[in-house]
Amino acid sequence: VDEAFTRIHDVDGDVQAFLTLNEEAAREEAKAIDENGSAEDAILSGMPIGIKDNMVTKGLKTTCASHILENYDPLYDATVVEKVKAQKAITIGKLNMDEFAMGSSTETSSFAITKNPWDLERVPGGSSGGSAAAVAAGEVLFALGTDTGGSIRQPSAFCGVVGMKPTYGRVSRYGLVAFASSLDQAGPITRTVEDNAYLLETISGLDRHDSTSADLAVPHYAAALTGDIKGLRVAVPKEYLGEGIDELVKANIRAAIKQLESLGAVVDEVSLPHSKYAVPAYYIIASSEASANLARFDGVRYGVRAETNDLIDMYNKSRSEGFGDEVKRRIMLGTFALSSGYYDAYYKKAQQVRTLIKQDFEKVFKDHDIIVGPTTPTTAFKIGENIDDPLTMYANDLLTIPVNLAGIPAISLPCGLADGLPVGLQMIGRPFGEETLYRAAHAYEQ
Ligand code: GLN
Repeated sequence: VDEAFTRIHDVDGDVQAFLTLNEEAAREEAKAIDENGSAEDAILSGMPIGIKDNMVTKGLKTTCASHILENYDPLYDATVVEKVKAQKAITIGKLNMDEFAMGSSTETSSFAITKNPWDLERVPGGSSGGSAAAVAAGEVLFALGTDTGGSIRQPSAFCGVVGMKPTYGRVSRYGLVAFASSLDQAGPITRTVEDNAYLLETISGLDRHDSTSADLAVPHYAAALTGDIKGLRVAVPKEYLGEGIDELVKANIRAAIKQLESLGAVVDEVSLPHSKYAVPAYYIIASSEASANLARFDGVRYGVRAETNDLIDMYNKSRSEGFGDEVKRRIMLGTFALSSGYYDAYYKKAQQVRTLIKQDFEKVFKDHDIIVGPTTPTTAFKIGENIDDPLTMYANDLLTIPVNLAGIPAISLPCGLADGLPVGLQMIGRPFGEETLYRAAHAYEQ
């Protein structure tokens, strides 16, 4: 914990991964463990962890990187936060993100732009950019992020760390500030696959506060790290190495696939024919859900309230002043897509496309164990390069979004450098197939 804070005070002025530090309380907790020890079975005892700022933390400000929540001090801990505390991890602070997790670069944060530790002129990715940058910069060993359409995997790829988006339902969403409830999942970001497995084991499981959390036993994921992937059936979708994917990225991924083959995996080319519709379908579904979820920020129940004597005016002003441009864009898009007369043309259509995407995956998983490809079409882009062009920004999530729409798990892990910047290898698994992903990722990492 001392080392974490020393490192943060050295580098975070440049990286700007943290929005809030929990220094006093963290040092006290660490001291208590030094003096009294902690239960032997606490698997993260004394480990420094950073928490994305859309997970509520009792007594520690939770802003979602938005002005509308800049004074919000939660009364309870999210289930994932409770669980890491129960395993005696020590919360170092809250990590920067895109406002309400809407973005792919951390540039939509209302408070700071996190920098990529590999090149401070570049973005760390998003929306969990603070989480990935903090781990990459050596500020913490463990971080929690959320992934609605790539927000754990894309920043992990850009920052050269390991990030897992678990199966929908594996991890409780209680206490995560909802963006798109049918897509949101929390997950671990770490340096190594083994650390990642321990953190996922910690945060997983049924929670009576989240009716979508799965009633399935939580495996000891680290036991899956046998190094043996002989006979593993790997599918490579041709769409994932096709048009729009940077040549240097492709070269690294092809080398990784060769390596998996040399470890005994059997590799086939397959097709996910509907993946080209994933980005448009996602932006209808995610924005629709967001427009409903964000209705609760009305200036009354949480956060910042505009000064005025008229109720409607107060709602309007609190929301116009509190939300940033990207969040407003999503609320308008979602409200439009759900409005009467347009529902069938947009929302319903998008849900039908979602089913087709899910079926593409089911077909491939009939005779393959995992799907492998790049996490992102390019390496980290420059700060400012895409922020004024929402469509280019949205297209960045082309390879991650299908996984959220299908509700299945995927991990991104470092796969060499291209022009000095990290490339992310994505492995996608069957529902609740996280053990297989960890086994394959660990064998590759060795
Ligand atoms: N970049 C995507 C978006 O802006 C995904 C965000 C996320 O996963 N939270 O919606």
